[in-house]
Amino acid sequence: MAVRKLREPSRDGMEEHFAPSDPKIDLARNPLLAKMLRSRPFQFLFILPNQLIFWFVIVAGLFGAAVPTRNFATVITWYIWFCVVFLLMVGVGRGWCLMCPFGGFAEWVQRRSFFQRHKISLTLGLKWPKSWSKVGILSSVGVFIVLTWFEEFYNIAGPGKPLFTSLLVFGVIGLALITFLTFERRTFCRYLCPLTALIGTVGSTGMVAGFRTRDRDVCLSCETKDCMRGSENGYPCPWYEWPGSATSNLTCGLCSECFKNCPKDNVGLFVQRPLTSLVAPTSRRSDVAWAILCLFGLVLFQQLNALPFYVPLDNWLNNITGFPGYPNPVDYLGIIALGTAVCAGFYALVRWAGGIRLVDTSGSRKTHLAHTFSAWVTPLAYGLTPIVAADYLARQLPRFWDHALRIIPAISDPFAVGWNLFGTAHSNLYNVHLLPTSGVILSQVLLAVIGGVGALYVTHRILNRDMRHLTARPVLVNVLALGFVVVATASVAALYVAMGGIQ
Ligand code: SF4
Ligand code: SF4
Ligand code: SF4
Repeated sequence: MAVRKLREPSRDGMEEHFAPSDPKIDLARNPLLAKMLRSRPFQFLFILPNQLIFWFVIVAGLFGAAVPTRNFATVITWYIWFCVVFLLMVGVGRGWCLMCPFGGFAEWVQRRSFFQRHKISLTLGLKWPKSWSKVGILSSVGVFIVLTWFEEFYNIAGPGKPLFTSLLVFGVIGLALITFLTFERRTFCRYLCPLTALIGTVGSTGMVAGFRTRDRDVCLSCETKDCMRGSENGYPCPWYEWPGSATSNLTCGLCSECFKNCPKDNVGLFVQRPLTSLVAPTSRRSDVAWAILCLFGLVLFQQLNALPFYVPLDNWLNNITGFPGYPNPVDYLGIIALGTAVCAGFYALVRWAGGIRLVDTSGSRKTHLAHTFSAWVTPLAYGLTPIVAADYLARQLPRFWDHALRIIPAISDPFAVGWNLFGTAHSNLYNVHLLPTSGVILSQVLLAVIGGVGALYVTHRILNRDMRHLTARPVLVNVLALGFVVVATASVAALYVAMGGIQ
């Protein structure tokens, strides 16, 4: 595959990237870590164990017994993996993408190599159409919403039949493979992966800033831009990133190719304080903001569907529409849309109450921006991210606290057919809950509160740094926006109490 020439960032507007908020702690200054990052098998060694586990999941689900609470496929996927992935997102950002078997397998096939640098790739190398890329990561949100509906309908994560878990995993790997064989680089990871919007947004709370340039002035005079174009040492950035302009960890897959490529040793692996990737960017993306709101709507659905009112509502809608089962698409999409609309509607109210401050009456871009709805929704939605992150993690906790130890018997009898490979198949740990129900609820409420405090901090910083100039009544805007965060946090926490620790 020809190495695509990436468009270089124009010098206009470059200054805004040289932010004082750039992370300062560079882990790659450690010689041992630098050596590891420079080695070609670096990412391969992270992907390989997960690759083996997930192909084993597929086999166990296909050929093992239909005992969801004992089959290795369902036990590891829904009692452990999903929770660990959310923990990784919240703490590390795209840590999961570094070791992900879905993109990893497809990339091995696309590159015709596990880790060596090959010039010729197995792909049609098409570019993602510009008109499609306008929606940004919202395409991923759409795939995630559709997939979650199928997951709910077939009770896959319940967990239901292990076969369905196999088919789900196989389906995601298949979709990844087709996309990698059709489009260039990690187009799948940028736009289509059902998890990428969630990891990108929720991961913004994390402490890993990703790979960035050490001295941006060096990049300005760099003729080769090997980090983006690739070199003998590494592939061009699979995520189409330029480390010289990154202000958040949204689209750095932590693959380290830019670190290998840079001829001036000007790339580092930076860590930052939690929430920095939400606060620091001066230019925020509206697709990311809408993704956060839609994802919030989705996790609210997953809370509301556990309450007593939901089943009669769903049944009633099924009777009217003749739909055969849970969840009826009308209430499923309706609740997601309602959650999204309530947030966006409140932000419209804040904008109205705050009054537009005319920054410049000459009709400049700045004045125009002050008037757009997006100028209000986008930063305020970023501020909500820690609650959304905490909510998703909290939703996974009951399965983990109640059943994570079932992995011990499942390892001895992965197909649930009566084997006892390591002598643990009949372990009493099968029935042990790590926390009582009250502890499960408490952990969920605590997480919601931590998310709420984080959201208050981010919203406060964004309001005071980026929005004061938009409004004629900054104090009122602060009160309303921060009040909304408090109400959202209290609602999430109250829902967990009402759910009573249900899975
Ligand atoms: S974006 Fe999706 S497929 Fe790509 S590495 Fe991340 S989780 Fe895996
Ligand atoms: S190759 Fe290195 S110096 Fe050149 S633009 Fe990329 S990171 Fe900067
Ligand atoms: S090459 Fe791109 S995705 Fe990989 S570490 Fe560098 S910036 Fe991140």
